[in-house]
Parts: sequence; C-alpha cells; structure tokens
Amino acid sequence: MAYNRNRRRVSYHRRKICKFCADSSLAIDYKDPRTLRTFTTERGKIVPRRISGNCAKHQRMLTTAIKRARNIALLPFTTSILR
Ligand SMILES: [Zn+2]
Repeated sequence: MAYNRNRRRVSYHRRKICKFCADSSLAIDYKDPRTLRTFTTERGKIVPRRISGNCAKHQRMLTTAIKRARNIALLPFTTSILR
C-alpha cells in the first residue's frame, strides 16, 4: 500500500476488475476447486473482495461456492500447519 509523507493513504485510480465479469468463460462452480482455490489464501481462507477485486455479485457467488465445496471436502476449511 502506498502512503504519502503525511502517512495518509494515496489513492491511485487503478480500478480492479472482477475476473468473472471480465471473462465470461470463467464460471463459478463449486465442483471446480481449481478455480475456487485461486480465491482462497494458503490457509484456506476466502480472499476478501478488496483484495480479489471481485464485484459484490460474483464475490457472493464465490463465497457460496467455496462454502459448498468445503462441505463436500473439495476445499479445506483450514490447512493444519504443524509447528
Ligand atoms: Zn463480477
């Protein structure tokens, strides 16, 4: 994140585009963990909209799909990292 001298956030007008809006061939499917995985963190958390840049509609669909995929064990709820 960029900060100016007064430690205030500088907003660059770089609009993030929603991947699903931009690419109509990309479908949100709970049976497709490979696509869903790109929207989860290493630990299995869902990437927030402000990071992923998805629109509200697709983020909502994605969240539902990820939760559905977790229920049928296609995606992990969390990755257990042994320390
Ligand atoms: Zn979208």
